[in-house]
Amino acid sequence: MIIFLFGMEDIECGKKRFIEVAIGLPIEKTFYYELPAGFGDRLRLGSRVLVPFRGRKVTGYAIAFPPNLADYPKADRLKSIVDILDERPLFDDRMLSFYRWISDYYFYPLGGVIKGGLPPGINPESHRVLSITARGKTLLDSGKLTKEELKIVQSIADRCVMPFESAAKRFLHWRIYSLVEAGIIQVDVGLKDVRVKPKREKMIMYRGEDEREDFPLSPKGEKVLALIREKGEISHKSLCTEIKGASRIVKRLTEKGLISIELREAYRDPLSHLMTDEDVRPGLTSKQINALETIGKRIDSLRFSPFLLYGITGSGKTEIYLRAIERVLDMGRTAIVLVPEISLTPQLIGQFLKRFGGRVATLHSALSRGERYDEWRRIKDGNVDIVVGARSAIFAPLERLGMVIVDEEHETSYKQEEKLRYNARDLAVVRAKLCDAVLILGSATPSLEAYHNAMVEKFHLLKLDERIEGKSLPSVEIADMRKEKGSGVIISGKLRNALAENLTAGGQSFLFLNRRGFANFIQCPDCGYVFKCPNCSVSLTYHFRGKKLICHYCNYTIMVPSFCPNCGGYRIHSFGIGTEGVQEEVSKMFPQATVDRMDRDTTRKRWSHQRILKKVKSGETDILVGTQMIAKGHDFPNVTLVGVICADLSLNLPDFRSSERTFQLLTQVAGRAGRGIAPGRVIIQTFNPNHYSVQMAKDQDFAKFYQEEARFRSELSYPPFSRLINFRIGGNSQKRSIKAAEEMGEWGRRLLKEKTYGGGIEILGPSPAPLVKLKGKYRYHMLVKGRRAHSLHQFVEELASEMNKRWIGRGISLTIDVDPISVM
Ligand code: ADP
Ligand code: ZN
Repeated sequence: MIIFLFGMEDIECGKKRFIEVAIGLPIEKTFYYELPAGFGDRLRLGSRVLVPFRGRKVTGYAIAFPPNLADYPKADRLKSIVDILDERPLFDDRMLSFYRWISDYYFYPLGGVIKGGLPPGINPESHRVLSITARGKTLLDSGKLTKEELKIVQSIADRCVMPFESAAKRFLHWRIYSLVEAGIIQVDVGLKDVRVKPKREKMIMYRGEDEREDFPLSPKGEKVLALIREKGEISHKSLCTEIKGASRIVKRLTEKGLISIELREAYRDPLSHLMTDEDVRPGLTSKQINALETIGKRIDSLRFSPFLLYGITGSGKTEIYLRAIERVLDMGRTAIVLVPEISLTPQLIGQFLKRFGGRVATLHSALSRGERYDEWRRIKDGNVDIVVGARSAIFAPLERLGMVIVDEEHETSYKQEEKLRYNARDLAVVRAKLCDAVLILGSATPSLEAYHNAMVEKFHLLKLDERIEGKSLPSVEIADMRKEKGSGVIISGKLRNALAENLTAGGQSFLFLNRRGFANFIQCPDCGYVFKCPNCSVSLTYHFRGKKLICHYCNYTIMVPSFCPNCGGYRIHSFGIGTEGVQEEVSKMFPQATVDRMDRDTTRKRWSHQRILKKVKSGETDILVGTQMIAKGHDFPNVTLVGVICADLSLNLPDFRSSERTFQLLTQVAGRAGRGIAPGRVIIQTFNPNHYSVQMAKDQDFAKFYQEEARFRSELSYPPFSRLINFRIGGNSQKRSIKAAEEMGEWGRRLLKEKTYGGGIEILGPSPAPLVKLKGKYRYHMLVKGRRAHSLHQFVEELASEMNKRWIGRGISLTIDVDPISVM
């Protein structure tokens, strides 16, 4: 690198320039590098750069030109960047502010945040090729190049194109770049990863008919020409689908100079398989009009304005989103719509396509890498106004963002549970704020956090409390499983009768079994009693080994008693039940019925969701058994019965949100019934028929549920009345993992004693995770609760850095989960 600098005889000797680089590796800090003068002014902030790092070359992101590094003690010893990987920046200032906020809030390295925000296809190093420009060719022929220049230009000319890397091995970088600067040679960027290569498409362009003298065309020829004339340009493929056999005519028209053909980069179209029928624009209900008026005013204000749209299932929230977006687009701005992965159905995407046509992009996990890269590029190039996608779409590089919508804002799938553990719902608030955009969080069962914000007027609350066209909410009944005779009953008498009736009437039924985050718990089948922690009010988790019941928040531990402390019954046992079992049982009960199943196992393949749902839509399926996948988003008019197999599974999650989850699930599931003309019926099976979340779900009374739940949260100081951060320890050795966890607890408590951090911080645990051993790793965690975000963050930062010093890199990993959704 040093040699490199001395070799720059033809470059003005000026002040050294430096660049701050965030590296896409799990490394805390950003780093300074020198920017060799030979790169000229090529480097734009927001571009990737190749930098030497610990003996390797790694990709980093240029994030700032530090104002004055002359005083920086190590300035002389800074290494130089090796290369600039992008001609155009990948992110702008506003996006960088967003990344920085995320990095600070989630204790995650900035480079890692940026890397996670870009599509996976873009991260592999770019593959750049050099070629000679027209000007270069003239100069080469005229013999006006210097000896040094000639060497480079000639060797490129000999090969037509030359990979940048091989040129860089033979010539100095800056020499190559100065030729680029002089317009003698050029650099083109391709991506090494073949999966994300741009796809090319044959485009046909209309050139005009001035030249057309008197040669005749067949009627079909006239038709083809007319279509091309009308469209101006059209892809070869779509022309040939519209008019069969157009291919030969195209050839003739090209020869005559009426049209021309060009190969152009095409974006792969992941939506091309979706049929889009006519868009219906329903007349709005008065409630919808009111809500839209309020939102509209805020859109016009061009200021950050957050809304919570609390609308019961079937109240027409989607239409509000569509109309609000229309208004945003009218103002020349753009919109992001987040939906849970699972509800990214063709139905929903179709609605946006119908209303907004090709200006919509989608981002979700079913896309191939190439498709995702293309969508990202379409967005980045400004060819898209609306992005509909799952949680990662919050990173969509839209400019002039005017609206962010989060549908089903309470959904836990907005939380990413690996690497950068962000919650896209919360990031939506941040991004909208940074962009002065309007935010709409929509839900039929708002999260406690969102509703609390509405109550304290941080969010503006909009209510839609009637179903469209006065359709009634389904009637909800409870089947008390304590009264079922015999042990291990899966389908109660009540549900069995309802299923039989519905089959005879030709209706379809959904049977729902929640298995998410399933942990073992012990329950008394006689009275429904479940063991809870006296400190934390969360269910105790059953550990087979040692027959213990443990609280996963504070580590409170008891032995499993042989009698139920509530009713004295002796049948207390752990619970095991699965969708497959339910399907089997129901098939046996109703051999004449078509029983299908939708869960993680049956939906591994791409679009398999859609296939299963299509069978439901066509009426082929009589009974669909499924997990939370069937709980939401779908609109099937003929589903008139919904059964919840076991409400207790979510009620007894070892989680302070278990009641909230239960209420949400039951309400969402109930919302699936009776979407058509026929009224719906819902049956909830449970051992806890009197629990408030079951009762309020039965009455579909969110406000009352919120009151009860908020009281509980406030008493025990859980979110939204506090903030939580979870320290997760993982290691291959159980002994060391325990030791690290214990030391973390001691250190944390000592820090709290010494510094207090303004009070209000509390440590729970450390304790074993509900699944102590997972994939060969032992897992322990410690929850930290804080009343104030700022001081909590300060404390966590200090404790984490202490842990890093002592344990990290020694067979122990530490993950910090901010605002954890689950402590599994
Ligand atoms: P939500 O998302 O609130 O559960 P949807 O947006 O799915 O409800 O609306 C339920 C149904 O009502 C959809 O089929 C939708 O097309 C229809 N719909 C929405 N608004 C109207 C309206 N104003 N008039 C008639 N139908 C409407
Ligand atoms: Zn506890």
